[in-house]
Amino acid sequence: MRKIMVAGNWKMNGSKAMVSSLLDGLLHGLGEQPGADVVVFPPFPYLPQAQEILTASDIAWGGQNLNPEEKGAHTGETSASMLLDFGCRYVLTGHSERRALYGETDADVARRFEAADQAGLVPVLCVGETLEERERGETESIVDRQLDAVLQQAGIAPFARAIVAYEPVWAIGTGKTATPEQAQAVHAFIRNKFASLDGTIAGQLRILYGGSVNGSNAADLFAREDIDGGLVGGASLTVEGFLSICHSVHSRD
Ligand code: PEP
Repeated sequence: MRKIMVAGNWKMNGSKAMVSSLLDGLLHGLGEQPGADVVVFPPFPYLPQAQEILTASDIAWGGQNLNPEEKGAHTGETSASMLLDFGCRYVLTGHSERRALYGETDADVARRFEAADQAGLVPVLCVGETLEERERGETESIVDRQLDAVLQQAGIAPFARAIVAYEPVWAIGTGKTATPEQAQAVHAFIRNKFASLDGTIAGQLRILYGGSVNGSNAADLFAREDIDGGLVGGASLTVEGFLSICHSVHSRD
């Protein structure tokens, strides 16, 4: 059975002091063998600090983005090999803030996803519709288009390891969560799409939900058949907030 994952996207938040106290608090609070795979995504400058604190623990870490090129004249960018140098196992690709604020297109996201996979990182591919798109009844066609761009570039094989995060844009940082029914419906749509290409990969694929997940709604969301955990923004910035989500996970074994 797919193990639940709880991943914290810190976005552009943090300081050396905050990283120390947050990660120390998580290490103490999670205890041994947490029921979920736990991952944090700090801003790039704090990856060495995360590596120092988390090495040999059960908490993994990753980058919030990457440039698909290996190296060279790309001022301000970070490559997959640089993330690997600091022990990252995961990297976010196509977060809606990257798409909306920094102009990343489906094609850009696909190239980042492929570069991450080829370098040996586990890409977490974020997809999701805006409120207007949902209201126009376009949720499935938007998610379908975002997934197709990556499938055409990288094929199905990387999804044997990669993770998909369904993050409706209208629920990110707004306090509005998709209901478990709304989220489950889109997760089932995503899994069925993969099932039409490869049943084994579809059965193993972890599909996280993201959008105002907190300690009060996580258990209901994670209890749904096709929701395999959460990608958490705001609530991942405090020890209590993130632990309350991690502790609401019940083993699926
Ligand atoms: C996110 O940034 O991926 C996210 C889901 O944020 P929040 O939990 O704050 O809505």
